[in-house]
Amino acid sequence: MVMKYAKLRTQTAKVNIKNKPPFSCQSCETGYTFSDMKSKKTNLLLKFTAITLFVLIAAQLLSACSVVQSFMPTETPISTATPLPTATAQPTATPTPTEVPFFLDAAVMPLNQQAPILLYHRFIPDGETKNAITFTHLSEFRSDLQKLYDSGFSLVSLQSWMDGNYSVSPGRKPLIITLDDFWFADQIYINDDGTPSLYSGIGVLWQFSQEHPDFGFSAAGFSNMGDKYYGDRQIGDRFYYGENLDAMQIKLGQTIAWAIENGVEPYNHLYTHPLLPVTEDKDILFQVEENDRITRYRLTQAGREDLIPRLGNMIALPFGEWPSTYKGVELLKNYKNQEGEPVEAIFEAYLFADKVLTPSVYSPVFDRYNLARLTASDIMIQWIMEQAPTLPAAQSCQLGPLQQDQAADPVVIQGLISNALQSGTCSEGVYHVGELIFIARDGDVVPYAPPLISTQ
Ligand SMILES: [Zn+2]
Repeated sequence: MVMKYAKLRTQTAKVNIKNKPPFSCQSCETGYTFSDMKSKKTNLLLKFTAITLFVLIAAQLLSACSVVQSFMPTETPISTATPLPTATAQPTATPTPTEVPFFLDAAVMPLNQQAPILLYHRFIPDGETKNAITFTHLSEFRSDLQKLYDSGFSLVSLQSWMDGNYSVSPGRKPLIITLDDFWFADQIYINDDGTPSLYSGIGVLWQFSQEHPDFGFSAAGFSNMGDKYYGDRQIGDRFYYGENLDAMQIKLGQTIAWAIENGVEPYNHLYTHPLLPVTEDKDILFQVEENDRITRYRLTQAGREDLIPRLGNMIALPFGEWPSTYKGVELLKNYKNQEGEPVEAIFEAYLFADKVLTPSVYSPVFDRYNLARLTASDIMIQWIMEQAPTLPAAQSCQLGPLQQDQAADPVVIQGLISNALQSGTCSEGVYHVGELIFIARDGDVVPYAPPLISTQ
């Protein structure tokens, strides 16, 4: 189109030059004498020169015009072609992103949630005779996990349960697995390739979690650091003590490090598993402190003292028994570990027959010094499966609409949760929105803060 237009203008210019009558030669045919001719010749020459100059100037002006026009085609495509694509691209690019409403999905943990806290001890290969109720066959453990998973449970860490910042996917229910009398190799043994042995309980749990990612991987191990030898060798499906005590201790330190880094939380079951009702008060504190000290020392031996700050402070009473004196009880409740952290929980009972679920930290009946655990057995797993349909599951809540760049703005999200509660579209609970956590309770929405532990 542009080129055609330019050609047309050039042709018009040429036509104009041809039709100019003043520049024809008719004016020079008039007769004169020689003298006259001479002077007239001069005049004529001057006139002719003037006319020629005029013609030349006029031709120049016209040709200048046509020169400009002849350059037009090269200039016009550039000046007219460039704005066209941008002009047509603009309407398609701008409106789409801003017109799509943006929402955030929150996972909401109901405040009245309860969790089974299961307790296991030792694991033995299938076919081996159980000498005590505290032994679980590896296949039996796997079967328990399958039943619990199929009933809608997902694992949460004991620490997150106590802190009230645990979360499971909407539709799932929280479950905690604990192991006492840690660290036996049949409970946890790390292969040379860095994976837990499938002949250890934690290895079975690890494998199950790999196969069922929405089940999660988490456990808590309550240790007796003073009266157990850690089997640092695996031969077939059995574990054996090595002859070198240092090597054994380093292997244990490495195992503790693996546990901390992979979601198995080490806690305190006292140094030599004492029966506290008959333990003198002065020895109670030693039992608690020494267990913590050796745990830290084993990490140091393995070169992993960097993990010490990640150790928590919870106690499982050996045999589920409290000290017999008030002072002994207070010693435990007011115990602070080497990092100055107050004790966050004391697990009192092993329940074989009584069946009690543990309320969340947001429940008015929650008591951090009286937390039940359920000793795993066929009957107990069956009972938990029967309870599952009645237990509140995590919910989902859609928040918004909001601007996409406000997706991590705590003030905006806090307001959206309030709106969702007021409009009745979502319930109160603990809201997990990306990395942010809010507590919506009694009509208020506040940013999450860990519960305060009152110490004397
Ligand atoms: Zn024990």
